[in-house]
Amino acid sequence: MPSTRLANLIDGRLQASAGGPWLDVYEPATGAAFAQCPDSSAADVDAAAKAAQQAAPGWAATPAETRASLLHKLADLIEARLDEFAALESRDSGKPVTLAKRLDIPRAVSNLRFFAAAIMGWESESHAMESGAINYTLRRPLGVVGCISPWNLPLYLFTWKIAPALASGNTVVAKPSEITPCTAALLGELSLEAGFPPGVLNIVQGRGPTTGQAIIEHPAIKAISFTGSTRTGASIAATAAPQFKKVSLEMGGKNPAIVFADADLSDANLDTIVRSGFANQGEICLCGSRLLVQRSIYDSFRERYLAKVRELRVGDPQEAATDLGALVSREHFDKVMRCIAQAREEGGNILCGGAALKLEGRCADGWFIAPTVIEGLANDTLTNQQEIFGPVVTLIPFEDEAQAVAVANGTGYGLAASLWTQDLSRAHRLGAQLEFGIVWINCWLLRDLRTPFGGSKQSGLGREGGAEALRFFTEPRNICIRY
Ligand code: NAD
Repeated sequence: MPSTRLANLIDGRLQASAGGPWLDVYEPATGAAFAQCPDSSAADVDAAAKAAQQAAPGWAATPAETRASLLHKLADLIEARLDEFAALESRDSGKPVTLAKRLDIPRAVSNLRFFAAAIMGWESESHAMESGAINYTLRRPLGVVGCISPWNLPLYLFTWKIAPALASGNTVVAKPSEITPCTAALLGELSLEAGFPPGVLNIVQGRGPTTGQAIIEHPAIKAISFTGSTRTGASIAATAAPQFKKVSLEMGGKNPAIVFADADLSDANLDTIVRSGFANQGEICLCGSRLLVQRSIYDSFRERYLAKVRELRVGDPQEAATDLGALVSREHFDKVMRCIAQAREEGGNILCGGAALKLEGRCADGWFIAPTVIEGLANDTLTNQQEIFGPVVTLIPFEDEAQAVAVANGTGYGLAASLWTQDLSRAHRLGAQLEFGIVWINCWLLRDLRTPFGGSKQSGLGREGGAEALRFFTEPRNICIRY
């Protein structure tokens, strides 16, 4: 039995029900359990919600400057333990430690600092009327809010939610994914060291359908910020709607990367296109899993692209040379393998990868899959319509701009698209025509935290980022004064 047991953070105390129950937490690279996290009950959620409710008036009345300084303190404490956090994130999720160190943990620190600064610079609106009146808008925190995050970017997305919630004066009941609970648990410990008052930040670990569901249903919790699958998002929306809870839903994607013949396909750009499909084993909601390539360059592009994909090193996430680590869980590994089998059944031609990888030594029982590129499948096949969320990219040729837009938009999802072209007019034209919340032109995953972030169609409801997040976590009240 793993000796490390994580705790919940409720009312300023690290605690877990004495007799359990517990959930095993696995290291994807080895397939072995290395920790346990509480499988919290509805009673645990209720205790957290009550603590948050008690703390809410005090926290809302705390000057923004003090709230911001606590967030900065937490960011500093995490940054001081960057290596430890990165190692833990990598062990828990299977991602390369170099990626956790370069992306996940620094971004978690930035999220906390960004919203600490954002709340200090947030302006209120006013509207003057010619008839002799003025309106101004007060924005009040909602009270207690719920934050639920997924396993693919664990601390990164956890902080992306709790930071604006706390900055804007709400108290929080948060739940990380039960598959990757470790770094949020460590953040919980550091929040005590930073000096957050009891009940302001509560972290309740556990499974989605039980602990998560109890958060959604709890009457004291006024809003839910969720990132995860579209299926879970739909179920959360259905539960929250009759209670008129605010929801922000960030969900799945089936994102196109569109390469035109006039693109600057320098080595560096090609590397970015490869990364946009395979970073974090393809387990990023923003990954371009459908790679649309203009027919006139299709053959030459495919050869250069495949050469680069074949160079990607799948290996022990702890090793610095590793590009792709392990898939996050046995269940997810099986799902991605089923998707590859389905692509074969649909007539797809596997150009590289297409199989699980057996590593030697420590990682012999890990959940590794070779980077896989498939061609020959129409856009309406299941392979090109369903989110796979693994190291699998399909190549789809297109003739002209109109067809590129039709294929790109021909999906139920609408999270992100990337577009590679040197034609400025085309870039603007397509930017306006692509039905996605985010369109990257000649780049990918270039993030400015002030911009609206989120998806349309089945990818999302609402936006996060900058003022959008602060608006979500507050209730506007218009005051109209006649003079
Ligand atoms: P998931 O929906 O299974 O779980 C996400 C979170 O919701 C977890 O904490 C889980 O415990 C919880 N949950 C599950 N059922 C619940 C319920 N009934 N009530 C309340 N909470 C519940 O998703 P996942 O497998 O962890 O994450 C992968 C998915 O997340 C992919 O679809 C991916 O595209 C998506 N994602 C989207 C974004 C985005 O910004 N749009 C970012 C990252 C991941």
